[in-house]
Amino acid sequence: MTQQVPLLINGELVSSRASEWIPVTNPATQEVLAQVPCATSEEVEQAIAAARNAFATWKETPVGERARLMLRYQALLKENHDEIATLLAQETGKTFEDAKGDVWRGIEVVEHACNIASLSMGETVENVARKIDCYSITQPLGVCVGITPFNFPAMIPLWMFPMAIACGNTFVLKPSEQDPLTPIRLAELFKEAGAPDGLLQIVHGTKDVVNQLLTHKDTPAISFVGSVAVGEHIYRTGTDHMKRVQAFAGAKNHMVVMPDAQKQQVINNIAGASVGAAGQRCMAISVAVFVGEAREWIPEVRDALAKVRPGAWNDPEAGYGPQINPQAKARILDFIRQGKEAGAECILDGSECVVEGYPDGNWVGPTMFRNVTTDMSIYTEEIFGPVLIALEVDTLDEAIELINNNPYGNGTSMFTASGAAARKYQHEIKVGQVGINVPVPVPLPMFSFTGWRKSFYGDQHAYGKQAVRFYTETKTVTARWFEDDIDTGVNTSINLR
Ligand code: NAD
Repeated sequence: MTQQVPLLINGELVSSRASEWIPVTNPATQEVLAQVPCATSEEVEQAIAAARNAFATWKETPVGERARLMLRYQALLKENHDEIATLLAQETGKTFEDAKGDVWRGIEVVEHACNIASLSMGETVENVARKIDCYSITQPLGVCVGITPFNFPAMIPLWMFPMAIACGNTFVLKPSEQDPLTPIRLAELFKEAGAPDGLLQIVHGTKDVVNQLLTHKDTPAISFVGSVAVGEHIYRTGTDHMKRVQAFAGAKNHMVVMPDAQKQQVINNIAGASVGAAGQRCMAISVAVFVGEAREWIPEVRDALAKVRPGAWNDPEAGYGPQINPQAKARILDFIRQGKEAGAECILDGSECVVEGYPDGNWVGPTMFRNVTTDMSIYTEEIFGPVLIALEVDTLDEAIELINNNPYGNGTSMFTASGAAARKYQHEIKVGQVGINVPVPVPLPMFSFTGWRKSFYGDQHAYGKQAVRFYTETKTVTARWFEDDIDTGVNTSINLR
């Protein structure tokens, strides 16, 4: 019988009583790896109740004890790094090295959560008025919810629950139904690290489960990562229900190539950042903007892309894996068709990609277009596949204007040898994460993941200090201790005295 993915409720991995199940498949072969349930509303209710009960004691747990749980957890994740990456590679199709990177970028956030004591320190001012001190403290919110996408089944859950739990909250995670095996393994290791029952629950499913979590009276904070359409729904519904919401959404990331940049660095970095992970990264470079004479490098960029070969997760020569499912592949092929029909020049076409030994895989080969206009769907939409658009402009000012007119603002990069050009770019560009001669500028966890505009709805971002602000409430105490019982009179004004 195919494996059934369990739910995690109150420390127990339990079988769901769901009537609806979704197959989890290996995208290189279509082999069904497991069946994932769409949890019943009772099960979702049980998960929230378990998290609510656990919160009562966890919020009183000393900060050092919370940090030590994270220390044990990061050690276990490192010990099991290869095993988690193997599981992740099978259900996502990522190459083993890239799967290891997915896990590693999550481990780094757990390491960051070990610093929770210093991260949650408040502020104090003595003598805000005579003999009156003022100080702030941070307190957890309660049951926090995470809803995560398919493309980083280790890193993105690990952006969320370790920081939330280190802050003293408890958590309900609804991972992507397309690759739920990795999150369950992460949860098993969390339990093994000594996490008390009820700290972390996992419920599976799609829209109905999400909506129940999103509108429940006992879930004050919602973290979401996924597409723009769903992100907008999550943000609107969550805030309508008076919740704190952070919703990380889609992207269209541009790399600006200046003619003074190092050519071979440009070529290598565009190739890796555009088709790596089959283009299924929210920080993938999907548009390269060649400035002035840099346009002459387009044929060489094309040749570099053409050499990257997709393949199965355990093929050490593969540059990237398959798309997550046949629908995602069909959607990308449709965009390629639309681009050609709209008159863009397809200078590398991966539509007919075949990978020997894997006839059923969701393969799309590296694809590149030039002569694209900004009204074409291949430019306006997030394709989320190994498709690079080359645009050409005459000046840096034109490149900046073009990018600032694009509604997304997740990531961008610029390749140049000029400090002045780079400084101008970082200052004027309306994108939240900027790489200078770095193609995929995902910040490390001492900073925060700071998408802008249509790529992020909310205020406080993931990890870094902002995660502590998101997952806690600040309380400010104004305190006086009387030394004598002296009559200083009745004070009817707002002033302290
Ligand atoms: P998705 O929006 O389809 O799914 C994300 C989550 O929402 C999943 O858990 C899914 O089950 C749930 N969901 C799907 N439809 C829903 C609905 N109608 N109502 C409620 N919940 C629903 O995204 P995906 O395809 O899994 O992931 C790819 C997308 O995620 C891309 O757009 C990518 O750019 C984006 N992404 C963004 C970031 C970021 O940090 N900005 C990071 C990773 C991925």
